[in-house]
Amino acid sequence: MLFKKRAMKDSTYDVAIVGAGPAGLGCALALRAIGLERMTILEGSSVGASFRSWPEEMRLITPSFHSNSFYATDLNAINPRTSPGDLFGVEHLSGEQYADYLGAVVDHYELPVRENCQVNKLHSDPSGFLLETDDQAIRARFVIWATGEFSFPDLEPFPGADLCRVASQVSSWQRIQGDDFVVIGGYESGIDAAYHLAGRGCKVKVLSRTEPWKFDDPDPSVSLSPFTKERLARIVRALPDGIELHGGKEVIEVVREEADYRAFTLDGDSYSSSQPPILATGFESGIKRQVASFFEWKEGKPLFSEVDSSTLYPNLFYSGPSLVHRGSKFCFIYKFRARFGVIAQEIGKRLGKDTSGLSDWERRGFLIEDLDCCTDCKCEVESAEVEEAVT
Ligand SMILES: Cc1cc2nc3c(=O)[nH]c(=O)nc-3n(C[C@H](O)[C@H](O)[C@H](O)COP(=O)(O)OP(=O)(O)OC[C@H]3O[C@@H](n4cnc5c(N)ncnc54)[C@H](O)[C@@H]3O)c2cc1C
Repeated sequence: MLFKKRAMKDSTYDVAIVGAGPAGLGCALALRAIGLERMTILEGSSVGASFRSWPEEMRLITPSFHSNSFYATDLNAINPRTSPGDLFGVEHLSGEQYADYLGAVVDHYELPVRENCQVNKLHSDPSGFLLETDDQAIRARFVIWATGEFSFPDLEPFPGADLCRVASQVSSWQRIQGDDFVVIGGYESGIDAAYHLAGRGCKVKVLSRTEPWKFDDPDPSVSLSPFTKERLARIVRALPDGIELHGGKEVIEVVREEADYRAFTLDGDSYSSSQPPILATGFESGIKRQVASFFEWKEGKPLFSEVDSSTLYPNLFYSGPSLVHRGSKFCFIYKFRARFGVIAQEIGKRLGKDTSGLSDWERRGFLIEDLDCCTDCKCEVESAEVEEAVT
């Protein structure tokens, strides 16, 4: 390993950010706000690559609306001054549109992104960290790991999963063949698949361990988002035979049976389809897949300090949807962006920089230090009549 390092070109930065999705780019913008220039953003593919590979029909479930001037910044914006909703005049953007928004931000703010620059290995180093790419060794005093979850679907949740089609790798629901499907997983990705397949006239059975379509938890990280509940209710009304929702069905195996596929569930039932089942059972974290040994773990989850750094390596920060505080997952842009300012402020302080440039970020919800947001997200007003859950 060491002789390879020596042969590589060596560059040194204050901060290296790994991943040019909303998390990495948002942190870069917050660091810019405190005047930090010696940074680099290393992206294995292209800016917004995860969004660009979404199924064509998929939309952001979080709505965009240009309410920035009233201190209620567009929910999908990665800094206080931009609005993807305003850029496209669209409330629920496609993956392509959101990736284009990120590209426009990179161009406008001239962020130092290096595309096609995969970080293969992270090493701790006396001066901080050393990041190994295919052709370079990059040194940085601080690292922000921001590689997301989308690149890491859970491909082996049960035996026979390799016979299934992974929902996040489908390019378009219109173009896959067949008219009967089993979808495994009843959260956002699974219901999105079912909605689009039923919409084109297919029969779809959704098998889910729990019944997210019945949860009424106010946190969209726990229950389905209003956007998805609304779409599901609409399609069930319009095409009552299109989608069957089966809760309490934990799939334990998928097998091939001559022309069909059969999914077996823990309670002894089984469900068949002529098409490979759609696997929508979730994602793993880039932390777990790429830098697990740099973090402390408890019950399968990485531990974070109060400023979103590793508890083992205080100069290694994490930004993105795998962040957890007080048992709450920051798995939406509007949640994890609340910490961009916290990370930038902390790095700024450790570098002896003036961090007052973040005051606008703080006013607009991009620097929330008070973690009460994790425990206090219930609405004070109960609806008079909760709409009957879709069954
Ligand atoms: C199907 C799905 C739908 C979602 N819908 C919404 C939504 O509507 N609203 C919302 O707020 N959130 C949504 N989310 C959550 C969403 O994942 C995050 O909001 C967002 O993608 C996370 O941003 P990120 O920058 O952490 O990760 P990503 O956008 O995945 O960016 C990570 C980047 O890191 C790069 N990378 C990975 N490994 C390396 C490496 N070793 N070296 C260099 N680069 C690397 C990848 O190429 C990628 O570009 C959704 C998630 C999924 C999976």
